Amino acid sequence: PAVYLGQSVIPLVNKLQDIFSQLGSASTIDLPQVAVVGSQSSGKSSVLEAMVGRDFLPRGADICTRRPLVLQLVQTVRRPEDRAELVEWGEFLHIPGRRFTDFTAIRKEIQAETERELGTNKGISEKQIRLKIFSPNVLNITLVDLPGITKVPVGDQPSDIEARVRTMILNYIKHETCIILAVSPANADLANSDALQMARIADPDGSRTIGVITKLDIMDRGTDARNFLLGNVVPLRLGYIGVVNRSQEDIHANKTIREALGYEENFFRSRPVYHSLAERCGVPQLAKKLNSILVQHIRAILPDLKARISTQMVTLQKELAGYGELTDSKSGQGALLLNILTKYSQGFQSIVDGKNEEMSTT
Ligand code: GDP
Ligand code: MG
Repeated sequence: PAVYLGQSVIPLVNKLQDIFSQLGSASTIDLPQVAVVGSQSSGKSSVLEAMVGRDFLPRGADICTRRPLVLQLVQTVRRPEDRAELVEWGEFLHIPGRRFTDFTAIRKEIQAETERELGTNKGISEKQIRLKIFSPNVLNITLVDLPGITKVPVGDQPSDIEARVRTMILNYIKHETCIILAVSPANADLANSDALQMARIADPDGSRTIGVITKLDIMDRGTDARNFLLGNVVPLRLGYIGVVNRSQEDIHANKTIREALGYEENFFRSRPVYHSLAERCGVPQLAKKLNSILVQHIRAILPDLKARISTQMVTLQKELAGYGELTDSKSGQGALLLNILTKYSQGFQSIVDGKNEEMSTT
């Protein structure tokens, strides 16, 4: 049911987000997003990629993510007659209308677009790359991949690289509507985690932070992540999920994501120490947790969102009045938006009240 709600609610949110960005007001209205934060090479891009289920993000031991990547996942329905290679594709905002069905080409385009803006020498920028992934295999959520925190400038990076990246990250995660995936590697001390430290600044009571512990496979021999996952080291209200992603060696060997998920499943199954923590282990559990948190979140912010759009409408209508008879497309879209949102809130209320037919088939 949580998954059902997510599937019905979130496409609308994504649609709203599209309209907002056309209205040019994306920055004034906070819609739910999920952002990954953590130090460089903690496994942020790997986690996102695993949740999408396709290989398309630049990953590696060096700095790979140098601009924020806003990734909107859109769940599509696969009809039996569709050819397998055509049911999943990506589209970039900066290349409208072009369908990337080859995910390797998506990765290359992310790299190329990063370099168009920044050159090849490790510089970073807050200018977004926006990508939509259409697939029958994803939950409908918007994810943001961010550059990682580093301490020592390299290449073209400015001397205050750490402060700049922290500011950039905060600009995403400070919003009450942003869900934070705080990614920390299991082979380092959790009490030193940049991810948890940043998350705590933005979300002091931990109401929208999920801890993700990566690299469970390369912990020091004789240790395990039980205490991390149980919240005994750094307590976190929404808890932790432990994952095993591909190593650099696996990347070189072109290990597929399917193989990687199979490997992860095996990893947890073959280690009795994790058996009692099954709900806190593995990428599928992370996806599940995220979806249900997202739904609760949307439910909570709906009234406020609506109020803010009304306020914006008033402003736009005044602006329109100032133009006389001129029909202004911005306010037209604003009206459309308000309309959609009103319908949406009503629909949502009836789901909550159990009046929706699709919901009451239980
Ligand atoms: P990011 O900089 O936080 O985005 O990290 P990446 O996802 O690019 O990963 C950095 C490096 O760590 C890559 O070489 C990955 O292969 C490796 N890595 C990430 N997660 C894991 C994991 O769970 N286990 C192992 N062994 N390596 C991982
Ligand atoms: Mg990365």
